[in-house]
Amino acid sequence: MIVAVDGPAASGKGTLARRIATKLDFAYLDTGLLYRGVGMMVVDRGDSLDDAEAATRAALAFDPAMMDDPRLREDAAAQAASRIAGVPGVRAAMLDFQRKFGTFPPEGKKGAVLDGRDIGTVIFPNADVKLYVTADVTVRAQRRHKELLGRGTPSIYARVLQEMQERDQRDRSRSAAPLTIAPDAIVIDTSTIDVEAAFQKAMAPVLEKISRQNRAQ
Ligand code: C5P
Repeated sequence: MIVAVDGPAASGKGTLARRIATKLDFAYLDTGLLYRGVGMMVVDRGDSLDDAEAATRAALAFDPAMMDDPRLREDAAAQAASRIAGVPGVRAAMLDFQRKFGTFPPEGKKGAVLDGRDIGTVIFPNADVKLYVTADVTVRAQRRHKELLGRGTPSIYARVLQEMQERDQRDRSRSAAPLTIAPDAIVIDTSTIDVEAAFQKAMAPVLEKISRQNRAQ
């Protein structure tokens, strides 16, 4: 079983996806880490983030072990990721890994939850359940700002908001796998609800799908 969770930055999709995976004992993949990893590789190699060939070369050499690099959690990695994520060669290089992860989840798990931008539209267009998690950009920027301050990282709200708007714009307007809502996705707006309420909303269609599949067997 595959649960696709897409949405913009700081929408709460990662938290939701992780909780769904834990609840069902499914494998979980944060696909943003793949693009963050490639972005950081480009920076580490001293190449330009605007150089599509350099980004594709980095993506082809990408080792999933890099996903453990703590630098990938920083905003610099997010910005680098969104600058290379529109390169078709980068997306093609990441496709196989994601499809294998979902089709043959590690540790013999019976399903997988993947979160990203194009899971339900490109990676798994036939996913069993598709969720699109979103929130108002000002709410998302506030969350991110608080998270940074909580970690002791200096942060200016106006700057966080501007960077988030820029990243949203790049992710939505690129021609390769832009961030869009799959027609069959269930939209969860987390602007005014807490994590628990969002989790309940997300689990409802997942549990319904599982019981339908069980009845069909
Ligand atoms: O989800 P996260 O914020 O970690 O993603 C960082 C960036 O990686 C996004 O802004 C987006 O440009 C890119 N990304 C993507 N496709 C995915 C996951 C992330 O293009 N499936």
